[in-house]
Amino acid sequence: MHYVSTRGGMAPRPFTEVLIEGLAPDGGLIIPESYPSAADKLAEWRPLSYPELAFAILSPLADDVPAADLRQLIDRTYTPENFGSVDITPVKPLGEAVYLLGLSYGPTLAFKDMAMQLLGNLFEYVLAKTGQCLNILGATSGDTGSSAEYAMRGKRNVSVFMLSPHGKMSPFQTAQMFSLDEPNIFNIAVRGVFDDCQDIVKAVSNDAEFKRRYRIGTVNSINWARVAAQIVYYFKAYFAVTQTNDEEIAVAVPSGNFGNILAGHIARQMGLPIRQLILATNENNVLDEFFRTGVYRARSREQVMHTSSPSMDISKASNFERFVFDAVGRDPAIIHDLWRQLDDQGFFDLSGSVYFRDLERFGFSTGASTHADRLATIRRVYEDTGVIIDTHTADGVKVGLEQRQMGIPLICLETALPAKFEESIVAALGRKPDRPAGYEAIEAKPQHGVVMDVDVAAVQGYIAEHALGVE
Ligand SMILES: *Cc1c(COP(=O)(O)O)cnc(C)c1O
Repeated sequence: MHYVSTRGGMAPRPFTEVLIEGLAPDGGLIIPESYPSAADKLAEWRPLSYPELAFAILSPLADDVPAADLRQLIDRTYTPENFGSVDITPVKPLGEAVYLLGLSYGPTLAFKDMAMQLLGNLFEYVLAKTGQCLNILGATSGDTGSSAEYAMRGKRNVSVFMLSPHGKMSPFQTAQMFSLDEPNIFNIAVRGVFDDCQDIVKAVSNDAEFKRRYRIGTVNSINWARVAAQIVYYFKAYFAVTQTNDEEIAVAVPSGNFGNILAGHIARQMGLPIRQLILATNENNVLDEFFRTGVYRARSREQVMHTSSPSMDISKASNFERFVFDAVGRDPAIIHDLWRQLDDQGFFDLSGSVYFRDLERFGFSTGASTHADRLATIRRVYEDTGVIIDTHTADGVKVGLEQRQMGIPLICLETALPAKFEESIVAALGRKPDRPAGYEAIEAKPQHGVVMDVDVAAVQGYIAEHALGVE
C-alpha cells in the first residue's frame, strides 16, 4: 500500500515512511491510495480474536512491515493485561438492540489507548530499524496526553514532552499524567489555557531548524496509524452483535477531531455493512452543522465552548479533510481549493454542489448534545441498566437513540470511563462512579513535572536540555 496527500503534492510512500509524519509536505493529510476490500472476507474474519483481526486488517495497510514483525507488535499490544479482558473491546447490552462498545479498558481509561498503545510499539520498532530517535511534542487538555505518555513510557529512542494547562485538567487526569515517573516522559504544566499550549507546540514546530536539530515529532490525531488501528474495533463490534454477514448495524460515535468516526467511514468503505454512522457532537457542533447545511465553518478560539465533554471541544476537526477527500471523488485539486477558502474566509460551502447531494451514500446521520442532555442521558442509562457512562459516551448515546433507524442494532462507542469525569457523574447521579482497580488513590501519588509560563523560548530551552539524540 502506498500513501498520498489529500492535496496531491506528495509522491506515493509506504507505511513506515509516513508513520512518524504529521502533515504531508504540501499541508494535506496522508491517506492510502485506495482502501483494501473486506467485503468477501467477513466470513473468514468473524471467528478471529482481536489481535488476529487487527493483523488481518492492518497487514495490507502496513505491508512494508514484515508480516511476522507486525504480528508480534500487534500481539504485544492487544493483551488482556493491557486491556482488561481477552475481548479487548467488550460489548454490553444497553437495551433492546442497543449496545455499548467498551473502548476504554486500556491504561488511561479512554479510547485513545486503542490506537496509541500500538503506535508506541510501532514507533519503537521503526526507530530501531532506522537508527533514529524522536522527541514527541504535544499539547493536551486531558486524554491525548496521558494516552501518549502511557504508550511511549519505557520505549527506546523516543521521549515525550507534553504541555498541559496548569490546574485546568480534572484531578484524575492530572494525576494520571503527573504521577508517571519515567526518564523519557516530561510533563510541562503551562500557566495558561489549552490554546496557549497548542500555540507553543505550533510555534516550536514552525521553527524548522529547531525541529530538525531536536528531532521533534507529534502523535496528534491526524497520525495515519492511529486512524488505521481504530478501524479494527468497528469490525470486532459488528461480529459481536450480528450472527450473519448480511446484517446491517448503526454505530454512534462521540466526535471531536473526526478521527474515531473516520475509522468507521473507512471500515464502511472497505465493505463492512454499516448502514448508519451516527456522528454526535457536543455544543461545539461544527460537524453536525456541515452535515445539515453543507457549510463547514471553523470556530474562532473565542467561539469554542468549554463543556463537560471536553475532549470534543474543537474549533475545527483536524481529520475531516480525509473524509471530504472521499466525498469529492478523491480529487486533490478540489481539496486544495476548499482548504484555501477555509484559510482565507474561515469556511467553505458545499451546499449547492453535487457532492453535498451525494453525501447520503456515506451513511452519516448527525446531531448535537448539551450539558443538560448529557446529565439526563447518564441518569437515564443508569436507571434503565445500572451502567454508568461518561459524558462523551453520553453525547453519543443521546444522539444515537435519536437518529437510529429501527430494526438494526445500534452500537454506541464508549470513549472514556466515567472515573475520568467524576464531577459530572456526581452532578448527574449524586454519587461517584466506581474506579477500576489500581486507580483508587491515584491523586495521592507523588507528581512529577515542571510549571512554566506561556513562553516559547523557555519551552524550547527545556526541550534542548532534555531531548534525546541531539547532535
Ligand atoms: C478524543 C476523544 C473523543 C473524540 O474523538 P475524535 O477522534 O477526536 O473524534 C471523544 N471522546 C473522548 C473521551 C476522547 O478522548
